[in-house]
Amino acid sequence: MASSETESKPHLKTVDVSNTEIAFAHKSNKELRRMSYLFRLMNKGWIVSTGSSLGLWLHSKGINIFNPMLKATIFKQFCGGTSLQDCQAAIDYLHVNKTLSVLDYGAEGKSTEEDFDRTMEENIKAITFASTHPSVPIISSKITSLASEELLRKFQSEGKLSGQESQEFEKVRNRLNQLCHAAKRNNMAVFIDAEETWIQDTIDTLVKDLMEKYNREKVVVYHTYQLYRKDKLSSLIADHQEAVTKGYKLGAKLVRGAYMEKERDRAKTMGYPSPIQDTKEDTDRDYNIAIKYCVDHYEQIASCNGSHNQKSVEYEAELIAERGLQRNHSHLNFCQLYGMSDFITFNLAEGGYNVAKYVPYGPVKEVVPYLIRRAKENTSVTGEMSRELSFILSEMKRRGMK
Ligand SMILES: Cc1cc2nc3c(=O)[nH]c(=O)nc-3n(C[C@H](O)[C@H](O)[C@H](O)COP(=O)(O)OP(=O)(O)OC[C@H]3O[C@@H](n4cnc5c(N)ncnc54)[C@H](O)[C@@H]3O)c2cc1C
Repeated sequence: MASSETESKPHLKTVDVSNTEIAFAHKSNKELRRMSYLFRLMNKGWIVSTGSSLGLWLHSKGINIFNPMLKATIFKQFCGGTSLQDCQAAIDYLHVNKTLSVLDYGAEGKSTEEDFDRTMEENIKAITFASTHPSVPIISSKITSLASEELLRKFQSEGKLSGQESQEFEKVRNRLNQLCHAAKRNNMAVFIDAEETWIQDTIDTLVKDLMEKYNREKVVVYHTYQLYRKDKLSSLIADHQEAVTKGYKLGAKLVRGAYMEKERDRAKTMGYPSPIQDTKEDTDRDYNIAIKYCVDHYEQIASCNGSHNQKSVEYEAELIAERGLQRNHSHLNFCQLYGMSDFITFNLAEGGYNVAKYVPYGPVKEVVPYLIRRAKENTSVTGEMSRELSFILSEMKRRGMK
């Protein structure tokens, strides 16, 4: 993922992600105040839960009356813009802060072949656009924006498809191949996001095939491992062993996972054991083991630590220091989402690590489900202040703002 390995900084001091002065250096007082209002609002569970249900319902009906309001608030915070060109300011802002950008076209849950082709074309446009921007070495894609969820589910649960469905499945493989081929030709990489368990086995099969094909010399394709799943630490290890046997490199983006409530609700309703870890501590334990596994095998695994958790980031920084590895080795990467955890991103960047932000973009109506996930992530169930808000308030206090 790194744009260059030449400026190696093999010193041992690890990262201090709590420096709010570095984290918010490029935010004016006015911007900080706007962010504090927004994060205060998202901190209130009942507002987020009512707003999310209403938002998803309106989205499913194609009703967009609140979109101008969303655009001025939560969209502005979490998205780079409505088009690629619109993302230029966000890309420049990140670049000034020594941070790379991962372009993420916001479409998901699409349903027609035309939609899937359109998303693939958007993704390829993003690769072409990024190839002229050295600080954008990667794009991300969701398979549910390139394939029908029903088709992915059926492939997983029934193992065989009708003639027509098999043709559709071939088209999905074809879209993914076009995407990875374009990335390889332009010296870029692709993150493939992880989604819900009932389609993830199919995604795993598709992505492993792509890695086998494209990750021979260097890592073009990154798979995603959700460590909130009980079985994903062992998948990571098995996939690494398979990659070694077959002679390709593993691309591994590590995340905790974004669909916990949905997964647990479905398991309960349908009466099967929840695939999600029983406790947060279990998720954190597997996440840390996965980080260590990737660092220990960094020559064959290009990893990306996709987390806003300060401890997870500090842990990897410590491992890198302990083992005397180059901080900016192209196989050791960190990534956060645009609009979140600048205190982690910019302090990592300042410390000389490879760090990027996911920059989602697209028409407001396309990114509504993504925005709802971000609002939920920043809400408080326990009444505690979210970590984003506490850092914003610390910086406001440091600046003497009321
Ligand atoms: C760069 C990047 C890419 C991402 N890509 C994906 C992706 O492809 N697919 C995807 O699903 N998500 C993705 N995410 C979202 C990611 O899963 C969430 O940001 C993440 O869940 C928040 O966790 P955290 O590591 O920031 O830390 P934390 O805030 O410490 O962890 C919160 C997470 O812990 C887990 N958790 C919370 N409570 C419990 C509990 N009681 N029991 C078990 N587990 C619990 C959940 O996963 C929850 O989201 C991505 C995030 C980033 C930063």
